[in-house]
Amino acid sequence: MSNALQWNDYSSYIRRTFGERVQKISVNAGFTCPNRDGKISTDGCIYCTNKSFSPFYCNSDDSIAMQLQKGIDFFSPKYSAQKYLAYFQSYTNTYVPSCSTCRPLSVAEGSATINILRKKFDEALSVDGVIGLVVSTRPDCIDDDILKLLADYAANNYVEIEYGLESTQNSTLEFINRGHTYEQAVEAVDLTHKYGIMCGLHLIIGLPYETEDDFYAHAEKISHLPISTLKLHQMQVLKGTRLEKLYAENPSMLDDMSLENYVRIVANFIDILNPEIIVERLTSESPRDMLLYPDWGGRKNFEVTHIVDAYMKRNGMFQGRVYKG
Ligand code: SF4
Repeated sequence: MSNALQWNDYSSYIRRTFGERVQKISVNAGFTCPNRDGKISTDGCIYCTNKSFSPFYCNSDDSIAMQLQKGIDFFSPKYSAQKYLAYFQSYTNTYVPSCSTCRPLSVAEGSATINILRKKFDEALSVDGVIGLVVSTRPDCIDDDILKLLADYAANNYVEIEYGLESTQNSTLEFINRGHTYEQAVEAVDLTHKYGIMCGLHLIIGLPYETEDDFYAHAEKISHLPISTLKLHQMQVLKGTRLEKLYAENPSMLDDMSLENYVRIVANFIDILNPEIIVERLTSESPRDMLLYPDWGGRKNFEVTHIVDAYMKRNGMFQGRVYKG
């Protein structure tokens, strides 16, 4: 565990692994999402808006190589990073729709999917300084063929798959219209582990109608999955989402996400979490003009991270302190 923070943090893991800082560069590879394009639903998750998480250099009108180069040009004067990971972040980066009516893929189309993915991943890895791939996707958009492809890359590159899980409760997943179950996520994680590929999960703390006990139950459940990394963030209500309307009708659907309460909840969560899991992120920052709730006064992620760390130090807490391994 890092000396600096009370948890097994991602930056320290990267430094231990590569001996230096490695910067992730986001890429919009022009994928869509089955929960928006009609395969599962056209509504998407109730909180979804892709506007909030695309940096300026991440524009699908540019080629993948061009986006990466723009990102590298932006980050290289800021940090001394010389190595980069191509972060396939926007939408569902292993999902290639078969046609407008979304019938099941035939064998021939299946290999077409692999060819499309291979072309995109090869292009990313051809950029100078890019040493790996981080592929964000949904747990219901993975199969043996895609994992075989990624396992091939993993033989010579850093490769990680990041699944959006969001909650371990099926009633919540249904309410937020995720379009997949917790069991599907467990299956995807187990299959990824079988292929020896690093696997990360993404969870939202404070989803509608979830209580503090539910948040801590998430920590216990995911502690027993074969995952390497975890990203957390607070529930945020953004303008223009379906959640905006639902929240306006019934604000009590969300737990208290004030900064003070969130810091306490996240500290307790980490206290329970398996100490082997690398914690990559604790919060998320959305543009203030899009954010309706909660208002943390524009605090940056790194500031909140320090507040959580200080809280844990003050209270003698550290990752896994009460882990039931
Ligand atoms: S899976 Fe992601 S991109 Fe798709 S609707 Fe949900 S939040 Fe949006």
